Amino acid sequence: MEAPLLDIRNLESFYGPIMAIRGVSLSVQKGQIVTVLGANGAGKSTLLKTISGIMDPEKGSVSFDGQEIQGDEPHRIVARGIVHVPEGREVFPLLTVEENLTLGAYTRKDRSEIEQDRQMVFDYFPILAERRHQEAGTLSGGQQQMLAIGRGLMLRPRIMLLDEPSLGLSPLLVQEIFDILKRLNRDEGVTMMLVEQNARIALELAHVGYVMEIGRIVMDGSAERLMESEDIKAFYLGHQ
Ligand code: ATP
Repeated sequence: MEAPLLDIRNLESFYGPIMAIRGVSLSVQKGQIVTVLGANGAGKSTLLKTISGIMDPEKGSVSFDGQEIQGDEPHRIVARGIVHVPEGREVFPLLTVEENLTLGAYTRKDRSEIEQDRQMVFDYFPILAERRHQEAGTLSGGQQQMLAIGRGLMLRPRIMLLDEPSLGLSPLLVQEIFDILKRLNRDEGVTMMLVEQNARIALELAHVGYVMEIGRIVMDGSAERLMESEDIKAFYLGHQ
């Protein structure tokens, strides 16, 4: 098999004395969608923050494209093409949709290509095109989530780290957003790692899944295999 694009080995991260990541290893191949499932507080957000350099790990390694990047400054990590779409969307509320997208491309200078990519985002999310002159703070939760993803795309990510894109959205909207993520992966080749509490929708989207409990990976496998697992059914998929 090809060397993984992202390879995490024995990672440990702390908040002061609290050990939030307790020796996590996982890998993402180019072109894959990998999901990390887990309940509230399992450490999923901390894992993404440690990959994108918002937090420094205490131990272990994060390799991207064969190079160790753990402990690097977040802007250096973004420059490598690792783009984090944080939980809670965090769009700039007083800027318009269009301005948010342009700001998303802040590391780039190629104006005509930026315009092309903005058009690509509008093609995937037509509602954003309709609301391009509207202040982002006045969008619905689902539209803000779309904008956060769109802004991430403006950096031409080599991998996109998505923190709970389904959070707080209606099932219909979640389905819409996940369908778009699937198309972005299939048609644009965007590699993704997403952390989710919503196991069903995440496993439907992903190729590979990991299950995290209290800072550790307790199970992993192909998304199909995990969906069939009795433990996953009982603890994460409810009664079906
Ligand atoms: P959620 O979906 O609620 O974000 P999560 O799986 O992403 O859950 P994390 O947010 O990564 O979990 O939290 C992992 C652990 O670290 C939890 O025990 C949490 O209480 C703790 N933690 C998270 N943020 C902080 C912080 N800023 N200071 C101290 N402890 C924190």
